[in-house]
Amino acid sequence: MAGEPQDDCLFCKIVAGHIPATVVRETDTTVAFRDINPQAPTHVLVIPKVHYRDAASLVAAEPTIAADILREAAEVASDDKLESYRVVFNTGGGAGQTVFHAHAHVLGGRGMQWPPG
Ligand code: C5P
Repeated sequence: MAGEPQDDCLFCKIVAGHIPATVVRETDTTVAFRDINPQAPTHVLVIPKVHYRDAASLVAAEPTIAADILREAAEVASDDKLESYRVVFNTGGGAGQTVFHAHAHVLGGRGMQWPPG
């Protein structure tokens, strides 16, 4: 059921502490941890503790938690003293989503191009 932990979900396992992650922030509703394959000096994923397959599903069901993710993304940037940063929600395989548990990438600490690839 939407919102419930999924046995086959990597990020649900991180939330449960069954897979290790370098956690940098945690709230009642979110966990933020360093990406295992960083694409920038700061590359942190902010995820909801509840399971939704992508950001669109999350915001439709739990808009306050979606707002929590954006607030935590800003806190990650502040913690890492980033003047500029990018927040990305890959949504769907064609956009590069590989883990189907909603997450925000917070990227910073280097120059960035636009449009992204
Ligand atoms: O947007 P996308 O679904 O591709 O992002 C998933 C991210 O999860 C990747 O950047 C990947 O490096 C990261 N990841 C991680 N820890 C894992 C497995 C994946 O940080 N154990």
